[in-house]
Amino acid sequence: MRFADQRALLVQDLARSGITDERVLAAFAKVPREVYVLPQYRDYAYRNQPLPIDLGQTISQPLMIAIMLEHLELKDTDTVLEIGTGSGYQSALLAELAQTVCTIERLEPLSLRAQGLLKEQAYKNIHFRIGDGAQGWQKAYPPFKEFNKIIVSAAATDIPAGVRKQLAVDGIMVVPVGSGYYQILNKVTRTAEGFSTSQHGGCTFVPLIST
Ligand code: SAH
Repeated sequence: MRFADQRALLVQDLARSGITDERVLAAFAKVPREVYVLPQYRDYAYRNQPLPIDLGQTISQPLMIAIMLEHLELKDTDTVLEIGTGSGYQSALLAELAQTVCTIERLEPLSLRAQGLLKEQAYKNIHFRIGDGAQGWQKAYPPFKEFNKIIVSAAATDIPAGVRKQLAVDGIMVVPVGSGYYQILNKVTRTAEGFSTSQHGGCTFVPLIST
């Protein structure tokens, strides 16, 4: 089956699994996951599962990404911080849904691969950094001093305070919290009064490694 047809089936699967945000579904219908998986896994690109990428990391499961993106209530005016660029697949989805994406990856080879792929795909609204994202977007300066939306793609043992403080008022952050193979998806919202956190089901991510 052609990749385009497989992609359409994946979108149907996401909708059947409860994803209702039309913009999120449209982004999944547009972004070619086969570009971001390793060549040897291209035939499995549209299985709704994580797949290995280099250096022991994974490209996230589409449904898990969709759940996180739906929680973020993304708008085309948003500036988003992504911790854990990995393959760049989720960065592409974010770039379709928001105005600007700032993405950090600690492993240089992964970041460089993702940068190459995302440039080939002609994205111009993604900014890259290589380093420890657990402290947030370092040397923050306007316009990237704070973010309307933050997505952490690796599991933190606690909500990373350095990242959370870069969340703008009225902003939303999603982060898997826990250790080992089971974490809980946490959603943090910030209002003028402060932060509030809610929990949204189990998930499994590679660990957020802070240096
Ligand atoms: N959404 C990505 C997920 C990649 S896996 C995708 O679908 O491809 C998570 C990534 O987070 C890994 O590449 C890992 O190297 C990276 N990571 C882990 N700890 C990090 C940290 N402290 N700062 C930045 N990136 C980190």
